Amino acid sequence: MANQDVEIAVIGAGFAGIAAAYYLCVEQKKKSVLLIDSRQPMSYTSAQSGDNYRNWWPHRTMTDFTNDSIDELDRLARESDNVFNMTRGGYVLATRQNDVSKIAAEIPGDIDVDVYDDQSQIQLKFPALAAKIKNVIHISRGGDISGQQLGQYMLEKIRAAGGRKLQGDVTAIERESKYSLNVTSGGEASVISADIVVNAAGPFADRIARMLGVELPVKNIYQQKIAFEDHLNAIPRDMPFSIDLDSKYLGWSEEERSMLIEDPDLEWLAGELPPGSHCRPDGGAQGKWVKLGWAYNKRHSESQEDMANEKAIDQSFPEIVIRGAAAFLPALHPYIEAPPPRFSHYGGYYTMTEENWPLIGPLDDSGAFVIAALSGFGSMASCAAGKLCAAHICGGPLPDYGADLSLARLTNAELLAELNASTNKGLL
Ligand SMILES: Cc1cc2nc3c(=O)[nH]c(=O)nc-3n(C[C@H](O)[C@H](O)[C@H](O)COP(=O)(O)OP(=O)(O)OC[C@H]3O[C@@H](n4cnc5c(N)ncnc54)[C@H](O)[C@@H]3O)c2cc1C
Repeated sequence: MANQDVEIAVIGAGFAGIAAAYYLCVEQKKKSVLLIDSRQPMSYTSAQSGDNYRNWWPHRTMTDFTNDSIDELDRLARESDNVFNMTRGGYVLATRQNDVSKIAAEIPGDIDVDVYDDQSQIQLKFPALAAKIKNVIHISRGGDISGQQLGQYMLEKIRAAGGRKLQGDVTAIERESKYSLNVTSGGEASVISADIVVNAAGPFADRIARMLGVELPVKNIYQQKIAFEDHLNAIPRDMPFSIDLDSKYLGWSEEERSMLIEDPDLEWLAGELPPGSHCRPDGGAQGKWVKLGWAYNKRHSESQEDMANEKAIDQSFPEIVIRGAAAFLPALHPYIEAPPPRFSHYGGYYTMTEENWPLIGPLDDSGAFVIAALSGFGSMASCAAGKLCAAHICGGPLPDYGADLSLARLTNAELLAELNASTNKGLL
């Protein structure tokens, strides 16, 4: 592998790195951008995404940020004849509570929502929901995309604009007059010199930051999904992405409950589980598959090269997530006793800050930048994140939220205290 001299080296070709490279090459017209990844593009965390998007967030900043990203997704969908299958079914937030004023108060005023508080109307409009659901908030600006197709589309645009990619593992970074990146590939070593380095390494962003002498305040939390063939046709194919807003108990039999309580590792399953179990049909109107998720895990992990190691730890997830979803989508109940024969169980790391906001901007004052901590929102936010990162690098105008989504917010004690005190961090 030959040594190379480039203006900008982007480390990581997931959603974050590809989007940063796209805006650098296509919008900012940078001619010397190298995208480096030890894996195939979009094959690590970005391959695990549910690819859902929404502008519903408990804080104005994240709403503005994701609205900008959805604007860009809309633009790219128009430009590409919707090569990445963007849909707009919205998000359904369902609750058994009588009073949704607290939930509604958290939704910024200019988000387009419909509130349904008549149970018979809810059953007509969303027939899969349990009869005890008393209120539904429907968020209009939400849906899903095919992230892999979007990634491929952006890579083509990067290539056409002169950007290049390199498969290799960045093992060390030194800084003299320029950055020197030691890269290994297939046992061969080379050095890439770059004026600017962009750290888009996803769950390994803290490692790359350490190579640059910076500690990033991020943690990795493994979250899982299942997808299965819904051979019972339990979920209507036109059901929007639906979320249970209520915490819940999992409906064990007395015998099961007492067994769980006796096992210190499983005892928590007999207790109250957090809100947020969710379900959506996958594969369009003619498809048969559905996806279920529930980001209840809170345990931090060291990121692993092979994510299958993590999956092995939580064999109980498929049953838990089906039980959780059946509590608000009752037609899923039969799958508790007779699990679907064709299903896949997968997961990946939510790389996140305590406040669940991303880190996008300068890493130091000598030409290193970061675009990371995209948690469970990297598919929906990558366009705005990439555009923002490119604007930081090129000195372009920043949106109002630019500073708050950068490392600069770590010096804003008042904002951090407000965010960390909030019980709802928009984690799904
Ligand atoms: C189960 C699950 C469901 C999700 N669902 C959604 C969803 O519905 N909607 C949504 O918006 N988001 C969702 N997300 C979040 C989204 O997938 C992530 O935020 C996003 O993929 C992060 O992208 P990334 O580019 O930062 O990281 P990654 O995709 O992990 O990319 C980082 C890349 O850096 C490379 N790399 C790291 N270190 C080095 C090195 N030293 N040298 C070379 N290369 C290196 C890696 O090989 C990797 O390819 C979900 C995430 C998970 C885990």
